Amino acid sequence: MRMPAQGRTKEDVFAALEEFGTDDLDVHGGGTFAYIYDAGPDVDDVAKRAYTRYLTENALDPTVYPSLLRFENELVAMAIDHLQGDEEVVGNFTSGGTESCMLAVKTARDYFREKKPEITEPEIILPVTAHAAFQKAAQYLCLKPVLVPMDPVTYKADPKAIEDAITPNTIQIVASAVSYAHGVIDPIEEIAAIAKKHDLLFHVDGCIGGFMLPYWRRLGEDVPPFSFEVDGVTSMSMDLHKYAYCPKGASVILQRNKDLRRHQIFTCSSWTGYTVINPTILSTKTGGPMAAAWAVMNFLGDEGYLSIADKMLQATKKIRAGIAAMPEYEILGDPELCLVAFTSDVMSIFPVIDEMKKRGWFIQPQLGFFGSKENIHLSIDQASLTQADAMLKDLRECTDIVKAKNEEAVPADIKEFVKALTPDDFTPELFQEFMKMLGSTDSGELPDGTTEINELLNVMDPGVAKKALTEYMNELYVPPQKSHSAAAE
Ligand SMILES: *Cc1c(COP(=O)(O)O)cnc(C)c1O
Repeated sequence: MRMPAQGRTKEDVFAALEEFGTDDLDVHGGGTFAYIYDAGPDVDDVAKRAYTRYLTENALDPTVYPSLLRFENELVAMAIDHLQGDEEVVGNFTSGGTESCMLAVKTARDYFREKKPEITEPEIILPVTAHAAFQKAAQYLCLKPVLVPMDPVTYKADPKAIEDAITPNTIQIVASAVSYAHGVIDPIEEIAAIAKKHDLLFHVDGCIGGFMLPYWRRLGEDVPPFSFEVDGVTSMSMDLHKYAYCPKGASVILQRNKDLRRHQIFTCSSWTGYTVINPTILSTKTGGPMAAAWAVMNFLGDEGYLSIADKMLQATKKIRAGIAAMPEYEILGDPELCLVAFTSDVMSIFPVIDEMKKRGWFIQPQLGFFGSKENIHLSIDQASLTQADAMLKDLRECTDIVKAKNEEAVPADIKEFVKALTPDDFTPELFQEFMKMLGSTDSGELPDGTTEINELLNVMDPGVAKKALTEYMNELYVPPQKSHSAAAE
């Protein structure tokens, strides 16, 4: 495909943008229980105006954009206050949770390179419930991720398993408040004590829970200490683009003090260009997300968020009660925030997701791993409250439909075959065969339903699933081949 020879009109360009979006998942209305955090049209308006106002400013160099430095420092200050940090705590604004987590790990790596240079193969301890972003960080930064089991009943990190996994090479422990998968708070105080005892860094991942937990505590929920008030917590991440309802591209990484944060910063004066001093991963970056985050937080204020938190709490109670009342389902653990995972012992949960999709609901599958059975995950937000009854009614009906059909999406012999595969057996050719079998067309388009794919992924060895998913993504991003100019049509 080539760029159009002549530019298209504004009308034409925007018409195309609208057309491209017709099949996208809804972002409004409360029918989407993942990816989207919807605070309503007023907040949207504030975010969009603030975002576009600072779209073209460049946060690469805060010395020439004092506005951006101010947004960032004020956002970080509000985050520190929220997470009970003292005057020693410092932080930065990042593009998202993954960047915040990666910076926490990079800081630990470089801090220990200086402090204990004898460690040549550093390890970080990750409960299996820690977000995948930490395994990504370990891979990018050449560290060894040491996965430890969770408590099989509460789905929380197990302090004993963590302590047992410590070796002379360990540099950092990670825990979550709350974990994405099950919405539970790890035993932060206990783990912090272990980290202190062994002189290790301890990151608390508050990407999804850090912002809302203090509000739920104020609403009377039992929320144990999880942030900087706990001695031994050395860094925290908190996303603003999740339950702080800011537009995407907004998170913070907070460090216990400047001595630690020094190791977060990349500086380079040994090349022929301008001096590079980056406290975060990106260099050139738009001021849009930080201006929008600042605007949304100032527009909503503490009271605004408290009232949002109350709606989230009510929605969560309603939905949890509704699911608990359905004999087919069991909620995993005892969620402490608005993230609820439920599974079934009497039927496959994957076809329910497709049935719900037909009715306009988006709910998320989570595969089974390490004692956490495959399940349906709901990220409940304030917009879910108005939809809770309708969602539960459809969930009841879709469950009945799936139960009545009572058919295996994937024949048992194929499941057995897939289950026995080892990563070495897996080839791109085998992948192509499977995609055909699942009804994929030559153009690489996916079949309508996700049931078959999820059922196969769920029985695969994780190493095989990893290869299959990589292959899938490698096929998905292919440039359109035809030389095609829309302007000429
Ligand atoms: C979402 C999430 C992340 C990763 O954040 P992104 O913004 O998607 O990069 C990390 N940890 C937890 C607990 C999360 O929920």
